Amino acid sequence: MKKIKNIISVLIIINIFFLIPICCVSADNKSCSIDNNIMNTAINAMRINACAIKSGDNTICTVKDKATAESVIDDFYYKYAICESNEVLLEIKWNEMPQIINVKEDICNILSKEDAINLIVSAANINYTEVAALSITGNTKTSNTMSVSYTKYVKLTETEEYNTITENSKTLYQDQSQIKQKGIQGVKEYIYKIEYINDKEQKRELVKSKELIKPQEEIIIRGTKIRESPEYILPTTGFVSSLYGERNGELHMGIDIANSKGSLIFAAKDGIVTRTEWYFGYGKCIDIKHNDGSWTRYGHLDKFLVNVGDKVNQGDEIGLMGTTGNSTGYHLHFEIRYGIWPCGRTVDPSYFLDLSKLKN
Ligand SMILES: [Zn+2]
Repeated sequence: MKKIKNIISVLIIINIFFLIPICCVSADNKSCSIDNNIMNTAINAMRINACAIKSGDNTICTVKDKATAESVIDDFYYKYAICESNEVLLEIKWNEMPQIINVKEDICNILSKEDAINLIVSAANINYTEVAALSITGNTKTSNTMSVSYTKYVKLTETEEYNTITENSKTLYQDQSQIKQKGIQGVKEYIYKIEYINDKEQKRELVKSKELIKPQEEIIIRGTKIRESPEYILPTTGFVSSLYGERNGELHMGIDIANSKGSLIFAAKDGIVTRTEWYFGYGKCIDIKHNDGSWTRYGHLDKFLVNVGDKVNQGDEIGLMGTTGNSTGYHLHFEIRYGIWPCGRTVDPSYFLDLSKLKN
């Protein structure tokens, strides 16, 4: 008996592979419909007992048996019933209770439990109302997804940026600033009642909110004080015989003030005497270091009135005018330098001295 069945099956398969092509090549619809009967018989012979999951009129998928179908349905439902630590489930229900129907199905269209769940969940991620049909295997089978409605309380925290305000200070310089009060971000907690269908939020309602951390504004103090140039006084009396700048192709690094021999030389600014000696072309030379990062040089002196290490105040007599070193007449060569003594770059003293007080 079994043998006979097998022979019939073989004959049916031969029919599928040989008769159908011949029929369709000669192709008119009438002759095809005759042979379709044979094909349907063949296809029916390949169907086996299975369970389809249906939602309304739509077949969602087909699995091997009732237990698998129930398991797929439960997994889908409880996926939405599970809550995170910041959620509370208020209500959950099927929009349409899925049905399990016994069917005969082509073995190729029967999904494993995992494939069935993946199919339904991915379809659910698209808004279920938008899913008209989802292909399972080629164009042989289509599916909608199932639909669950649920409502949760969801607790969310949100941060709030702080404001920054600026205050002025007369005691700080313009390039200085200080943070008077550090800014703190605010934190607010919100409890929302959110309604979902599958993975899509449908409606959100604020139930209550609470301020956890009050934002604190940042206060920055900015200085308004203008940095003044260091103040120097004229280091002697007389007239300007040579200014700072290029002279005979070289930089004249100071200002020359000429007067008679023995004219008094004054400290241009408070400081400490760091040199009283013959120093190359400067002749008898005094250097004074000031506490603002500058130092001054007095050259071609006739006599020193101070010693190295002496603390001098602005205007103190430090020496007498001469013409020692590389000099052609009684004058003071005066330099202002910025940098660590004895190095540093020279600056034009006329920016710092009131030369109008000298004779022309
Ligand atoms: Zn000079």
